[in-house]
Amino acid sequence: MSSYGSEQLMKMEHEFGAHNYHPLEVVISKAEGIWVEDPEGRRYMDMLSAYSAVNQGHRHPKIIKALKDQADVLTLTSRAFFNDQWPLFAKKLSDVTGKEMILPMNTGAEAVETAIKTMRKWGYLVKGVEKDKAEIIVFENNFHGRTVTIITFSVDPDARDNYGPFTPGFVVVPYDDLAAVEKAVNKNTVGILVEPIQGEAGVVVPSDGFLKGLETIARRNNLLLAVDEIQTGFCRTGKTFAFEHEGIDPDIIIMGKALGGGVMPVSAIAANKNVLEVFLPGTHGSTFGGNPLACAVASASIDVLIEEKLAERSAELGEYFMEGIRALKSPKIKLVRGKGLLIGVVLHESAGKARIYTTALKEKGLLCKETHNWIIRFAPPLVITKQEIDMALEKIAEVFCPVEAKA
Ligand SMILES: *Cc1c(COP(=O)(O)O)cnc(C)c1O
Repeated sequence: MSSYGSEQLMKMEHEFGAHNYHPLEVVISKAEGIWVEDPEGRRYMDMLSAYSAVNQGHRHPKIIKALKDQADVLTLTSRAFFNDQWPLFAKKLSDVTGKEMILPMNTGAEAVETAIKTMRKWGYLVKGVEKDKAEIIVFENNFHGRTVTIITFSVDPDARDNYGPFTPGFVVVPYDDLAAVEKAVNKNTVGILVEPIQGEAGVVVPSDGFLKGLETIARRNNLLLAVDEIQTGFCRTGKTFAFEHEGIDPDIIIMGKALGGGVMPVSAIAANKNVLEVFLPGTHGSTFGGNPLACAVASASIDVLIEEKLAERSAELGEYFMEGIRALKSPKIKLVRGKGLLIGVVLHESAGKARIYTTALKEKGLLCKETHNWIIRFAPPLVITKQEIDMALEKIAEVFCPVEAKA
């Protein structure tokens, strides 16, 4: 812990750190479970969970123990040698995903890049697409990360402007529009890359049957269906993975964020052998991917999700939380949507910018972040209790239903 105060730290960051974020004005120097604390000792409830990377809660004892125990014996080998943690983690993640093989990386964007490389290589080697002609179908308002290739198919000017030239081979179609997907398919299409719920777009939940429809299109046209579960995965939406709500069997599952238990960047893709066997030694890799420290942490992170039944908890408490917000009947709130504990509160434009409300909620001790100008995401760590949700609802009521409006 540093001995600086919040004001000094924010000033220092502003001076020496690049300004590629616009954080809420709160400095966090301590955390446990769903609670975080600033250097002055003010306590806040975390309603963002580092964009769903802290599903297990801050500093879960079992995950911290795995980190410390592993740090005492071995941290990094590179994949030039075997280590004694990666095989165990690979087996565990294979069991959880129901897929035969795992390819480990570090950040979410790297896992998405890995999925793109997999679809392309499979397209050329297995499907027989003509060299350099592979196309992947993606969706408007997607968020898949920040690499040049990934932002190529972003439709957000902030994410994209002045980063060209871009990577060819992507076709963007409207989300939740199966006819548009069908129309975009041609002989060069190798795969579809989709978020089961669009988190960054503002918790956009597609119509029932959308994912099932994508699976059908993929099967009919010999395409790989890759689901980006980086934000929706690991129990966030009330199932281990959000695609399970539609009972589909995607070809590639992309994971990150909560896989590292809020402790380390750990990402991976899972697929069956007929897909992942397109990679041969030397054709893809990462120095830190599969490192023993990350693998020990990730194995513990998965254990916690299962042992504490966080999927069931998320399903139950998510309903309760959403109903609670709806019941406020705030004239400022247009719509509450989501699945499990991934909740988007859409404001009426007349209510003013979401930032006003996230700032007011912060003053009340509740941390959440706006996405776009009029949507607030509530995504607390899944270890939150019903009592804590009641506390959060009280604070939300104070901000969205001020007393003078009630009287
Ligand atoms: C956060 C996120 C990513 C990118 O993960 P990073 O670890 O930030 O690279 C990709 N896809 C989705 C859906 C995400 O939410």
